Amino acid sequence: MLKPGSTIGILGGGQLGRMLALAAAELGYRCHIFAPEADTPASEVAAVTTRADYGDAAALKAFAAAVDVVTLEWENVDREAVRQLAAHVPVHPGAHSLEVAQDRMAEKQFVEWLGGRTATWAQVDNREALDAAIAKVGLPAILKTRRFGYDGKGQARLMTAADADAAWEAIGGQPAILEGFVNFAHEFSVILCRGQDGSIVDWPVPVNLHKGGILATSTLPPPALVRAQAAEAVQLARTVAEKLGHVGVLTCEFFACKDGPRFNEMAPRVHNSGHWTIEGSATSQFENHVRAVVGLPLRPTTLMSARIEMTNLIGDDVADWPRLMADPTAHVHLYGKAEARPGRKMGHVTRLGK
Ligand code: ADP
Ligand code: MG
Repeated sequence: MLKPGSTIGILGGGQLGRMLALAAAELGYRCHIFAPEADTPASEVAAVTTRADYGDAAALKAFAAAVDVVTLEWENVDREAVRQLAAHVPVHPGAHSLEVAQDRMAEKQFVEWLGGRTATWAQVDNREALDAAIAKVGLPAILKTRRFGYDGKGQARLMTAADADAAWEAIGGQPAILEGFVNFAHEFSVILCRGQDGSIVDWPVPVNLHKGGILATSTLPPPALVRAQAAEAVQLARTVAEKLGHVGVLTCEFFACKDGPRFNEMAPRVHNSGHWTIEGSATSQFENHVRAVVGLPLRPTTLMSARIEMTNLIGDDVADWPRLMADPTAHVHLYGKAEARPGRKMGHVTRLGK
């Protein structure tokens, strides 16, 4: 167990790192951010920042020497960097979690191996393979890059076979998977945290509404169909965490279909659909993640209200800040990003109760 006053290294400097660093500070831990960008949302609230590329061996070495444990808010750090860090300092979650969660194909194979159901999918390594994948999966379908996708980026929809060339071009001709379009009723996510002692806590599941591939709202309680499928999804996510030997928060996204839950994707980290836990749960996803990585016992995830809604502030939504700040029912979180580009997550608002 790391004592308060110890330093947690965080790979990535976005809003997830910012909220992790705030939670760590409350418990008396220092954070050291490692990110390639200048002036990140996380570095504004952390003790130290290293600005360097994730592949910079000398910077990684100095970072490992300066921190007591490493965690991440951005999972696309390459295997070699994680191996380098892990030679000097504990890294939570570890290499196994990252390798699976970085790759949409590995993720799906892993979950299917554990008995979970996913969309129908096929591997697409080149343009010819896309035609074969269409024949196997059917249309409509979504072509997704195996790596680096987020907020709907790295995806192209195919309505007819005539869309194949444009879709392949749109994703930059990278290794991909083709997924059959899932006719879901709702989307929801399981957020859990696994401690170093193997104990797991999970949060009540929210229903998630996406607009243009980006999360718009997370709401509790979810509709009846999601409530009916939550236990099965939670069980699958717990098994995933155990089999990966995962330490920290793990998020699994699901589609609620008429015939049961289908796994969509996982993130080996705190997640946008868990931001409501800051005010809406006895313990936030950020606090329990910090507790897991420093080896503290995890705390309960009891709901603080019967009804909770988290709304993302995307792009220009943030211009509404004067009204939101004056609204006594709104818990406003802004991420300190200077420029409100379209599709950029600028902040979020959580409301408890009616
Ligand atoms: P990411 O969140 O990494 O950008 P996702 O795979 O979660 O990628 O896709 C983003 C959103 O696109 C999903 O939340 C869902 O709304 C929609 N989507 C993704 N895959 C499918 C699918 N196979 N069928 C129907 N909708 C999908
Ligand atoms: Mg997603």
